[in-house]
Parts: sequence; structure tokens; C-alpha cells
Amino acid sequence: MPFISKKTLASLLGILFFAMAAVVATAPQVQEKQLSVYAPVATYTLPVLDRSGHEYVGLLELLEPLGRVSSQTAGGRWGIRYNSVDGNFAAGKSRGKVRGRDFDLGAPFLIENARGFVPLASLGNLLPKFLGTAVDFHQNGRRLFVGQVGIEPSFHLESGPQPRLVLSFNGPVNPTISTEPGRVRMLFKRDPVLSPGSQSISFADKIISQATYSENNGAAEIDVVASSPLLATYSNSGKTITLAAAPTETQAGQGGTGPPAVSSGPSTPKVTPPPGNTPPTIRHPVIFVDAAHGGDERGAALTDQLAEKDVTLGFARLLRHELELRGFAVQMSREGDTTIALDQRAGSANAGQAVAFITLHATSQGNGARVYTALLPREGESKGVFRAWNGAQQQALAVSAMVATAVVNELKVRKMAGGAAAASLRPLNNVLMPAVAVELAPGPTGAADLGSATYQQQVASAIADGVVSVRDRLGVQR
Ligand SMILES: [Zn+2]
Repeated sequence: MPFISKKTLASLLGILFFAMAAVVATAPQVQEKQLSVYAPVATYTLPVLDRSGHEYVGLLELLEPLGRVSSQTAGGRWGIRYNSVDGNFAAGKSRGKVRGRDFDLGAPFLIENARGFVPLASLGNLLPKFLGTAVDFHQNGRRLFVGQVGIEPSFHLESGPQPRLVLSFNGPVNPTISTEPGRVRMLFKRDPVLSPGSQSISFADKIISQATYSENNGAAEIDVVASSPLLATYSNSGKTITLAAAPTETQAGQGGTGPPAVSSGPSTPKVTPPPGNTPPTIRHPVIFVDAAHGGDERGAALTDQLAEKDVTLGFARLLRHELELRGFAVQMSREGDTTIALDQRAGSANAGQAVAFITLHATSQGNGARVYTALLPREGESKGVFRAWNGAQQQALAVSAMVATAVVNELKVRKMAGGAAAASLRPLNNVLMPAVAVELAPGPTGAADLGSATYQQQVASAIADGVVSVRDRLGVQR
């Protein structure tokens, strides 16, 4: 069956929920000193030695991932060749030769077990001699950047009753996120994250007050100070982390209706609870939002200007926002103008943790919105594996109808036209969890409304309120 892999899914879906419970303070772990190196060809860490008041790192080990290296030692002398560059040093001597020229290490060279070590403090000047390229060495944090590899963060706070801090990075990141009373810590061990420009940023917000950046022992850390529990959501292929104040009353993950535990694939961000303590980890219910059509498949031409595939994507984004405001996490079938098979949309939803599936269409006929549930093939119409696939919705159909009714009620509350119907509409048949299709129809001023974010947002909020009203019933019915 055309399921996408768990790994791909895990990267689509990085959803975490934190509760700031009382945390017992524990003594910091004694950590080995290390140096992190970020280069276009490799990211790695090396142990750092303390000798006679200086920090040292092995020069062969440092250069090895970056090119061809060999070394030799004899009688207190140590030589290294990196690609075609030679370096020569002597145990206990600060002066050596690189490319045939004198080089001052600033502290004595060290030989231990035939391995040559240079002072950490020399790396900023020494490495460019070997590599022929600039390096940026943050000695205090023990982080070395070779070439233009740094990832810059930027912060954007959206204030409000449930404020959100959006951290954008110009490359994907995968920090270890942990929580302590009053703050969320993001530790970037392998990501070449740089300072956002200042070490501390203050926000004029009652809940999220400050973000600080620091570097220590080969890692960067961003701490966000907040007076309420925060929820972290990854999006934009790992380039955006959104920290949002969690809704105060939540049933997420309680009772039997929550999603199963998120599998820990390699790209799945991990929550690291402080040692000796297990804070309650509450998970958000995930709603799968499918923007129908896309890419080569344009859908209906709603007006001369408006293709259905574009309307459904904008509508899906607004629905995602409305659902997130109500304490759900959202998995999107597509984030851009891409072609995705129907089977793949259903497969992605079934392989994940979604508790409900909502596919969005648009039409130039009628007005308001129509909500569809699956019309399943009768017994005997399909056989074998296809029967299972085409009848996947069977068990969830009763709850799907409840979702449809709830959404129609919310449309009525907003004085919008709406109706529910059953239709043979793929991929609803193939989805295991409660599933509806919502077809956006023109508003009071006609088909042009279909492209209006204000109009779409009204319908999206009706859908989200409808989902909230039946949230206790959602989930895969097996
Ligand atoms: Zn359509």
C-alpha cells in the first residue's frame, strides 16, 4: 500500500507538548569537555584535554574528516600532512612550521601516545593555514565553524491571550528540548546555530518574556522564559519552531481518545525530561488537514483567476491556524503546490497519529460550505486487499457523521449556508479515523469570496469549533 515511510512522516510531524511541572533540581552532570566542528562536509565533536592550564585537541583527529591526512612521529617530533600541506611540531615547543613558515601555537605542543595535540586557543589562526579557508572559532563555547555553515535564528513574538514565539532558522535544526520551571531549553548539539545578534531578547508579553542565547561545551542553547507551559511545534521542514502557550483546559492525551505515542524516528525531536523526574508529557491530538488537488492537478477553475488547488491550500493554512489556536496539532498533506496521489494522502494520515482527517475542496456553485462523509462501497463490490482499503473508513463512519453535523451547526451559528451529505469521495473511504470533506462554496458576494482570506477564515473557524465540540469522540476506532 502506498504508505509513506515512518521516517518521512516523523520529519513531517514534529510535535511536542510540555507541561512545566514542579521539577526537582538535580546536580549538573559532569561532562567531558568537547569541541564541536561544523563544516560543509561534516559535523563532529572531539574530546578536549586539559594539560598545564591549557585546553588541547588532537590535530590529526581535527583535520581527518575534512581531507586526506597522515601523521608521523619520531624522537619528540611530530609531522602531519593534510592534503598537500605539511606541518611540523615538537613536544614542549610553542613554535612549529606550517607550509614551511614559522607558526606560534601560543602554548607548548603536546605529544601523547604518538598523537599530536595543539592548544585550542591556536585554532582560529592555525586551521586556515591548513584548510586555505576562513574559520570562525568561538573559543569560549568550543564551537568551530569552517566556511559559511552557520544557521541564523530570528525571533518573532505574536502577542495575545495565547502568545506564540516563532523561531525561524535559515536551515533545518533538531535541538533537544527540555523543560524546567518557568522556561524551555533548546540545546543545539549538532546544529551550527549562531547568535541571533544579541544574547538576550525581551518581549513585551505577560507569558513569554525573554529568550536568551548561549554557547557552552560545543553546543548552543536558546532558553525561552515563560510563565505558563509552552507547546513546541516544528514546521517548515525543521526550519521553524513555534512555542505557544498551551490552552489552559485541555483533555489532550487523557482518556482513551488521544493519539498513540509518537514514534521516535531519527528526525523526531525528543523531549528530555530532567533526570530523576518524570514530568507529565501531554500530547496534542493531531488533525490531518488535506488541501485537495495541487501541482499538476488544478481542480476546478473557480473563476478566471482562481484555481481550486490554490484556494484549498490557503484555506488549509487558515484551518491549521484555527485548529492550533484550539489546542490541536496539525499535519498537512501538502505545504505547497505539489502533486500528491489520493492513496498517499490517506496513507500519510493512517500511518500517523491523526485523530481526524479533513480534506478541503472548493466549488463555484451554491453558497456557504458543504460537508461530506464517505459513501462506502457495498459488501461484495470490492474484494481482498482492495476491500480493506476501500472500506477503511467503515469503523469511523459514525463519528465522521458527528463531525459533519457539528461543523454544519457551527456554520448555522455564523449564519452561513451549510449542509451535510454522504458522497463517494476519495480518499475519505481509505481513511481509518473520522474523516470529512469540506467543500467551500461562494459567500455573500459570490465566487470572488472563495479567494478571500476573511471569508475562508470564517468557514475555517466553524470547522475548528465543530471539531472541538466532538473532540472526545475522535481517534482511530479499531
Ligand atoms: Zn476538488
